[in-house]
Amino acid sequence: MKNLLIKNSAEKIQLNNIICVGRNYAAHAEELGNKIPKFPLIFLKPTSSLIHSGENIIMPDYSNEMHHEIELVLLIGSTIKNVNSSEAEKAIIGYAVGLDMTLRDIQLKLKGNGHPWTLAKGFDTSAVVSDFILKNDYVLNNNETISLKVNDELRQNSSLSMMLFNPAEIVKYISSKMTLGKGDIIFTGTPKGVNKVELNDKLFGKIENVGEVLAEIQ
Ligand code: MG
Repeated sequence: MKNLLIKNSAEKIQLNNIICVGRNYAAHAEELGNKIPKFPLIFLKPTSSLIHSGENIIMPDYSNEMHHEIELVLLIGSTIKNVNSSEAEKAIIGYAVGLDMTLRDIQLKLKGNGHPWTLAKGFDTSAVVSDFILKNDYVLNNNETISLKVNDELRQNSSLSMMLFNPAEIVKYISSKMTLGKGDIIFTGTPKGVNKVELNDKLFGKIENVGEVLAEIQ
């Protein structure tokens, strides 16, 4: 099983599930022609899709349109089910910045057929994460900026305050549908500005006080 790396620590936490939220920024839902959701839209990635910042993202040969999605990622530290907001907040023990790489052409076909998004979202190297910063060392500031540059061109830039559902609301909602446990990570959705990447593109994402994520398209 893969490990998650902890900032300023030799500690490693074993990865459990990778859970993702879709359409969590109104402007991004609108740019893809989707309605703003009333509840968090939840999907999964396999654990085999995870890589760490600094590794390469491998473009699958069955897609011609891979998109970048920069996202805040939550780390869960305990087993929870059906929790309230304050218990949900307590279960979040750390944060990272990550990339939810997406095969937009495949996703559009799957959506058109009413099929799950798995093949558009679950390919090897599709989940990239920075080291996680623990809550003991850092308190998340809702007004932080999340941004992504591709080859020095700014593509995505937003305040975390633009999220439709905040981290505690997301964790509370997911825990009402499935048990969450230590080592689960949750991608919390991407702001507007998603776009195509090409071979050899260099991606650089960050949330100022959370971390940085680097990856090259290969
Ligand atoms: Mg996403």
